[in-house]
Amino acid sequence: MTYVATLTCRECSATYPPEAVHACERCFGPVEVRYDYKALATAVTRESIASGPPSMWRYKELLPVDGHGPVSLGAGYTPLVRADRLAAEIGLGELWVKDDTRNPTGSFKDRVVSVALTKARELGFKVAACASTGNLANSVAAHAARAGMESVVLIPSNLEAAKVLTTAVFGGRLLAVDGNYDDVNRLCAELASEYPEWAFVNVNLRPYYAEGSKTLAFEVAEQLGWELPDHVVVPVASGAQLTKIDKGFRELVQLGLVPPRGDVDAEDPAGPVRVSGAQAEGCSPVAAAFATGADEVLPVKPDTIAKSLAIGNPADGWYALEVVRRTGGAVGAVSDAEILEGIRLLARTEGIFAETAGGVTIATLAKLAREGIVRPDERVVAYVTGNGLKTVEAFGSAAPTATIRPRVEEVAAALEEAPLGGGRP
Ligand SMILES: *Cc1c(COP(=O)(O)O)cnc(C)c1O
Ligand SMILES: [Zn+2]
Repeated sequence: MTYVATLTCRECSATYPPEAVHACERCFGPVEVRYDYKALATAVTRESIASGPPSMWRYKELLPVDGHGPVSLGAGYTPLVRADRLAAEIGLGELWVKDDTRNPTGSFKDRVVSVALTKARELGFKVAACASTGNLANSVAAHAARAGMESVVLIPSNLEAAKVLTTAVFGGRLLAVDGNYDDVNRLCAELASEYPEWAFVNVNLRPYYAEGSKTLAFEVAEQLGWELPDHVVVPVASGAQLTKIDKGFRELVQLGLVPPRGDVDAEDPAGPVRVSGAQAEGCSPVAAAFATGADEVLPVKPDTIAKSLAIGNPADGWYALEVVRRTGGAVGAVSDAEILEGIRLLARTEGIFAETAGGVTIATLAKLAREGIVRPDERVVAYVTGNGLKTVEAFGSAAPTATIRPRVEEVAAALEEAPLGGGRP
């Protein structure tokens, strides 16, 4: 059983049957999954969702699969944490953190990969492949192992050691390419036509893959008691996640699963939630276009510690910009130093250790709060999408410890030097 109606071109609206199609044959525009919302509206209720598994697959009717059982390591249904101490520090009111550090391989990529490989298996693929900035590689290798598929994973050769190791352990083919992500991605686009029997999750299966990010919107609404937040802050690499979070909120309004916020038209829920984007200054093509009001996202050469967001030529950059403008959000960018401070701030206020992408989100949230764009009267959700254990080298080799001999006096002396509550790094 599937509620998928068509794959539809986002540019010219040409439609295609739901197969491994990712670009429009007429205009080369990207295609997107469209559903039979009339049928969905009667089939999906809050109760039917609540009776599902405690994973992203509780929303399976709203995902582009046929219901034969997912390829799943249990991704999703991660905690939504009320973050009062963080809110107080950055001058906000009702703030929540969506803690996607808790996914099976430590990042939100498990959501998109679980959908992509479920679809790949339905379509009869035996090999899973991807171009990755690290987290995707990790997740594809793990889910392919779970599904009993082969995997071929291509990454830039300068990735964090933890991301390489946690991918290699699953036993697929891991190829480090001498180049940046955009080089790897271009190579994979060529490989996808050379090896049509491989399921490139973010190339030929991209329309399905991207849909997995809608569950980040569904879960937040359900965890808020079936209400929408006012404003969300989302990290941006390719921009796919940001556009699909917006799509998820709009679908919930359209299906009557949440009441629209005050001024929103339920039939045409143009912008039910304000969506803001977060980038690293060392790779901020979308933030730059937003700042200048440009209609084009110009490619850049990435240079940032936020390697999981280091896509200089983002495939969905323009669409992310469109979402942000339509919903009244903004796109901010922060420096590497601010990213590290963002990681520390979240860790010491809420006990959540995020990777550099999470530092980008929190630091950008703080910046947008200072600028009055994210407001204290709003119910705000920050998406923290990856686990800090994957990017420890962003902090360099110096662990901030004091080494002492095992004596009480030495503890007392150390405390005298740096008193408790003194905000040591
Ligand atoms: C890939 C990634 C993102 C951004 O995803 P896009 O859909 O490409 O914008 C955000 N956070 C983390 C941790 C990621 O790995
Ligand atoms: Zn088209």
